[in-house]
Amino acid sequence: MPTSSEMQPQLALLYREALHTLAPTRLAPEIDVRLYPYAGIHHTIRLRQGRIYVRISDIFRDAPTGIHHALAFILVAKLLRKKVSDAHNRTYRDYACSPESLRASDLARRRRGRKIITSAKGHTYNLDTMFTRVNREMFDSAIEKPTLSWSRTRTRRILGHHDAAYETIVISKTLDSPDVPRWFVEYILFHEMLHIKHPARIVGGRRLYHTRTFRTEEARHPRYKEAQDWLEHVARTRRTQKARAA
Ligand SMILES: [Zn+2]
Repeated sequence: MPTSSEMQPQLALLYREALHTLAPTRLAPEIDVRLYPYAGIHHTIRLRQGRIYVRISDIFRDAPTGIHHALAFILVAKLLRKKVSDAHNRTYRDYACSPESLRASDLARRRRGRKIITSAKGHTYNLDTMFTRVNREMFDSAIEKPTLSWSRTRTRRILGHHDAAYETIVISKTLDSPDVPRWFVEYILFHEMLHIKHPARIVGGRRLYHTRTFRTEEARHPRYKEAQDWLEHVARTRRTQKARAA
């Protein structure tokens, strides 16, 4: 893992490149890039007395260069009040919304003493109640209860996530809505509970989460077919919204 003093000159180069691409006629100001222990995923860019100051969440310390590259273009575009390219936005978002980043962000927030406001009780649905029912109906109440939480942000790409290391199931806030039928939320919860019942297996050096046993049991759910249609529906909604935003 590179130390922050080693990586900052490299990061500054990315910002110089972004600046050169987005504002080719301007002079190159000095750029000061630092990782900063923000509580959560947060970055800032400022221009002060001819010098650019960039502060990147230290949660991104190990982010691949491609992500830092996209972030540099996003922040510089914001500084110059220019339109951010969709491709850079997408690259950045996919990384920032990955379960690993969200977890790192949650841990940072916890470590840095900010109150955690998410809980199992949402606006529309209560995950505790749902868990008890799904556990009884689908698992003979054999699944030990993990920490249940609604996600803090509306993640459309990832509807649910089970974290074995932290014994946590996080369900996307997108589903905590009267527009989403209860059975579908319970189905997503059911899928995550299957991950507790069927832990990941290492196959050919890779971690396999959805094993054949997992998939077979999942397909036995009485509303499996309907759930696949709804997953399609959610994916379609996401595409439409993206198209509208573009
Ligand atoms: Zn899964």
